[in-house]
Amino acid sequence: MSRQFPFLERGLVWFRTDLRMHDNSALYHASTRCKWLAAVFIACPKTWKSHHEGDTLVNFRLACLRELQAQLQNRNIPLYYLEIPKFSQVPKVLRQISQRLKIDALFANAEYPLNEQCRDKAVQDALNEEGTKVEYYSDRTLLPPGAVRTGSDEPYKVFTPFKRALIQVCAGIEVKILPAPRKMLQSDGGPHWPKWLKLEGGRKLTQKIPSQLTHYSMDTAETGVVKGWRTGESAAQKRLKAFSERVSEYQTERDFPALDSTSRLSPYLNSGAISIRQCIHMALSLNDGCWQGGNEGIACWISELIWREFYTHLMVDFPRLSKGKPFKEETEQIPWSYDKDQFDRWSIGETGVPIVDAAMRQLNETAWMHNRLRMIVASFLSKNMLIDWRWGECYFMQQLIDADFASNNGGWQWTASTGTDAAPYFRVFNPYSQSKRFDPNGNFIRKYVPELASLNDKDIHDPPPVQGYPQVICDVAAGRKRAIEVFAKLK
Ligand SMILES: Cc1cc2nc3c(=O)[nH]c(=O)nc-3n(C[C@H](O)[C@H](O)[C@H](O)COP(=O)(O)OP(=O)(O)OC[C@H]3O[C@@H](n4cnc5c(N)ncnc54)[C@H](O)[C@@H]3O)c2cc1C
Repeated sequence: MSRQFPFLERGLVWFRTDLRMHDNSALYHASTRCKWLAAVFIACPKTWKSHHEGDTLVNFRLACLRELQAQLQNRNIPLYYLEIPKFSQVPKVLRQISQRLKIDALFANAEYPLNEQCRDKAVQDALNEEGTKVEYYSDRTLLPPGAVRTGSDEPYKVFTPFKRALIQVCAGIEVKILPAPRKMLQSDGGPHWPKWLKLEGGRKLTQKIPSQLTHYSMDTAETGVVKGWRTGESAAQKRLKAFSERVSEYQTERDFPALDSTSRLSPYLNSGAISIRQCIHMALSLNDGCWQGGNEGIACWISELIWREFYTHLMVDFPRLSKGKPFKEETEQIPWSYDKDQFDRWSIGETGVPIVDAAMRQLNETAWMHNRLRMIVASFLSKNMLIDWRWGECYFMQQLIDADFASNNGGWQWTASTGTDAAPYFRVFNPYSQSKRFDPNGNFIRKYVPELASLNDKDIHDPPPVQGYPQVICDVAAGRKRAIEVFAKLK
């Protein structure tokens, strides 16, 4: 059989939040369509800061990028790095890069937040103008946003019917995992990719990923580990494999923060060190190909992955979510509090409510927080303290290693009852009963609030005065009542 030659000569893969070799749509298709490939990553710290992306997230991202660069090098694909302040400068520099490297086509995986979409459209226009093709692939979600619609061609606003419809579509399609790109030819009159390039404005495109980044505090002391998290694609695969051995217990254990019972794959999913399809593929292969039913733990985990899908699709269908607006517009009338001192006490874990403090300290120490706790602390801030949920949303974005605009905004709006398919406003999490139910022996609290470690299992949830531990920040019951009243008035 004669070999089919790729029909493009030089391709450029633009990496963003898809930092892996395997099952990467843009990378794979570029490698099948082009004879030679280079790759580029553009850091935009000023824009990242304005999106509240924090130090840990950015450190994790760049550490994943370093590992990816080494893998790409083995396939003769050089990865270039460039720092520019803002997204708005990307179209111009990509045009320069593509001209200087004589690129025929640019390949990238679509990103869905509003500013990212605008940037990508501008890049497409700029490159098309001078004859360079641009191809974006749907890769971050199982189905592209907009692909799941109600009978009247509307976006779903409620999770359960969305999930049902998504499964109906997906169940008819095989979830395929794409291989890593082939090794690019070096001979055959191939390009000599320069080690670096000088661009307009004194900018330098290099193959060296620096250890410094403007506006960010970079921690490069321990390569391959950021805040205790191993970075990169191989770490993600190891984690997925380890989790596959305990996913059956997921449904019964996932709500207990003292247990290591969830996958902790969120940082990898969000930086793109692992793909959603790889996760679903593992789950389906252990569940006889069933999306629902079969093993309860696996079906429950698939459902959680679909929440991520749901929030991403919602973000695209409702651009106001990306503009700091609540889904339920009437909730703009809530007389939110903007008490900075109280907010600061919440953020450092000094509220005097042990489960809330333990959770916030877990976030500050590990850059991650268990899902049950995210709901408890978000409810405490937005309901009992009546502080604007957007302050909490922003703090999470800054601290989380898995910060993802769609899931974070969705989680906050769900908890604050301002979102679509949100918790009903009158259902306010009681932090004490949540604590007794989901941390029954206080083991999680003891780990993060050592001041309370010597209390018995009963007192630890709602402690008597303890030296060195703060009094409760607000009247929890009165705060709940006030929240219900202000929400009830909106009707
Ligand atoms: C207030 C609040 C803020 C949140 N902020 C984020 C965020 O910034 N980034 C983020 O990835 N998740 C966020 N979540 C969702 C969820 O808490 C995390 O995805 C989960 O805790 C990650 O841990 P895991 O990987 O062990 O999850 P697992 O329980 O193993 O679930 C597997 C994957 O499913 C997805 N997932 C699970 N639960 C949810 C959910 N409720 N919403 C959306 N996706 C989900 C995640 O990608 C997760 O990695 C937030 C939830 C709340 C209530």
